[in-house]
Amino acid sequence: MSYPLIHMSRSNVKHRLSNFDFTIMLKRKLVLPIYHPASAPVCKCGTTHDIYGHHHFRCVRISKKAAHNYINEYGLQPALQQVLPTAGIITTSSIVQTEAPHHITNQPLLRPFDIEYQPNHTLGDSNLPPSQFAVCGADITIDHCPDPPSASALEDISSYTANAERCLQAAEKRKFTTMGGTVTANTMTREDVLRTLHTDAKHLQMWAICPYGGMGPMLRRFLFGEDPIRPLSFTANRSQAANMYLASLQSSAPHGILPLANSSWSSSKPSHQKFYGHSYTAPTPKISFLQQFGLACTKAFASHIRRPIRTQRAPQASSGPTRAPPGLNSPFSTNTGV
Ligand SMILES: [Zn+2]
Repeated sequence: MSYPLIHMSRSNVKHRLSNFDFTIMLKRKLVLPIYHPASAPVCKCGTTHDIYGHHHFRCVRISKKAAHNYINEYGLQPALQQVLPTAGIITTSSIVQTEAPHHITNQPLLRPFDIEYQPNHTLGDSNLPPSQFAVCGADITIDHCPDPPSASALEDISSYTANAERCLQAAEKRKFTTMGGTVTANTMTREDVLRTLHTDAKHLQMWAICPYGGMGPMLRRFLFGEDPIRPLSFTANRSQAANMYLASLQSSAPHGILPLANSSWSSSKPSHQKFYGHSYTAPTPKISFLQQFGLACTKAFASHIRRPIRTQRAPQASSGPTRAPPGLNSPFSTNTGV
């Protein structure tokens, strides 16, 4: 999420962040406190927020649905709509859809895909094997980050990275085995849904996103072509989840779309067109995608942190200092000009 903080053209109004959101997200990026310890607000679950704002994403009483929907509609949809035709994965007239119903005959309002498209791997410079699927897409989940590493773990950043991947991979696995809340009172299990999708040649992936914009292994394979450090495994009673997951690791599954888009664009762009998306700060399809995705995450998570102002109890009175040190104003302060 560095791009929207330091490297996107502010001449585009949509790229601008309010001072309030910029301050919150810059502090989050730098792992600086966003609350003073003596005046941190109390969540509706009764827990006092930690000074870094992690509890906003860990508490089960705080819904992340608004942030989820914003990232899906204003980050992933427009970014994929632009980059998938460039990569030769869909035609220029094909629409990337969000929350489409009617995938399951007896549960027409069930929407197993947050985002979906119709792949056609024979387009452009795409070198992927022909797609076996009529529809590909993903169910998106926002997960919390792992606990901060200990001082000794900081000496080995690779172990912390692996821990973060395992955390997001656990979120992927939960999505494969539980239904989520897209509709209520449905009577189908996750295995039933996956079996129906598999029969209809529809491919569902689970894309996990952390509150810092980090991506789970399935999303990273789709975007960058990276394989997971250790593939997921499922118990015998989750055969449909295993089938769908293994399908995502096949060479015919969509993967590495950003390198593919970079390659296709650089070989086919007009000589006078220097920058993808007409911005010198986004010279390639990959950077353009990451900027749009990062901007949506930044706005969604800043709004998520601000939102509980209306739903949580006010900060409790404290006998200690209530005024934050310079630069550490609480987002709950009435002073929005931080
Ligand atoms: Zn809470």
